[in-house]
Amino acid sequence: MYAKCNKIMKQLAILGSTGSIGTQTLDVVRQHPEEFSVYALSAHRSIDLLIKQALEFNPAVVCIADETYYRPLCDALSDLPIRVLAGEKALLEMVTMPAIDVVVAAMVGYAGLRPTMEAIRAGKTIALANKETLVVAGEIICQLAQRYHTPILPVDSEHSAIFQSLVGENIADVEKLLLTASGGPFRTFSLEQMQSVTSEQALRHPNWEMGAKITIDSASMMNKGFEVIEARWLFDIPVEKIQVLVHPQSVVHSAVQFVDGSVKAQLGTPDMRIPIQYALTYPERWHNDVARLDLFTTQSLTFEEPDLQRFPNLVLSYEAIRRGGNMPCVLNAANEIVNLAFRQGKCGFLQMSDIIAKTMDKVHFVAEPNYETYVETDDVARRIAKELLTTNNYK
Ligand code: MG
Repeated sequence: MYAKCNKIMKQLAILGSTGSIGTQTLDVVRQHPEEFSVYALSAHRSIDLLIKQALEFNPAVVCIADETYYRPLCDALSDLPIRVLAGEKALLEMVTMPAIDVVVAAMVGYAGLRPTMEAIRAGKTIALANKETLVVAGEIICQLAQRYHTPILPVDSEHSAIFQSLVGENIADVEKLLLTASGGPFRTFSLEQMQSVTSEQALRHPNWEMGAKITIDSASMMNKGFEVIEARWLFDIPVEKIQVLVHPQSVVHSAVQFVDGSVKAQLGTPDMRIPIQYALTYPERWHNDVARLDLFTTQSLTFEEPDLQRFPNLVLSYEAIRRGGNMPCVLNAANEIVNLAFRQGKCGFLQMSDIIAKTMDKVHFVAEPNYETYVETDDVARRIAKELLTTNNYK
């Protein structure tokens, strides 16, 4: 055993610190106050929680994306030596600050793309929770990470499980990635029942406590579709080698099948602090107080194939990544629109996939997009999805 006393304190920047992953990252920091220090925090607009976090963790800098909260944030922190920033440009500047070692990218959606790109360029280790970044622009992100020798460590529980199963292995020896999915709250619903489900029902996830956007994505299995794309880029593996398995107990967090027939999996309680901590301590493992998996009381583990008829988002995701180019970006943009519309009661559950499919048909395909193409595609796809929502009078 090596003593931890020689360890240099890691300075963290947590983007999206008031969200589900952000608050759990701070929980991990609380358990390891000698090893982690919070250098920077950012939030979209949850100012009260951001202030509370700043008072507790005393970061050097905080940033609020929504500039209307700049004054009140300054006022609340005026007695402390904390630099206060606001707006997207300031966030891009913040992630490149020299003292930062690790950037935890935990913002929601497309908004995570630019700051993550800047952090990669600045050579910061990325603990990536924002899967949309890889869905939208996986190719660019991977090229950047290679060019700047920036490690991207997965926070997503499935990808952490695969990553952990691959330690000491050669990626060329992988036959298949087995990506598990809980199946969400509608796993056993009929197509007819799914027609009329409400966002309240969709927000009740059986196993994981998460933010609202990802919980809806989980219920529609768009989250799993995104994770297929995320895995394709993170592990540089053809999408044909990624298989989704519905595993309602969420005990096996994912697995890897190798060319010799061996399968390695990572198991644990469904607690995001495990993968978050692993991303922060890799290649080491540190002790924590997270509840242990008790195999004696664990119910039997079951695995089933996903129903592609009831969960067409999986089909759309495979189609988007197979076509490549700007298609995954369209998939993500349309999904962000319908996900919000569904939460606001403006779109039915099954109509979400309809609109995404139609948006994918309508947006001009670009085989080799650059960053500007992604920005334009995102914009156009959102507009088309919104038009479809209103003209088709969904719901
Ligand atoms: Mg996941």
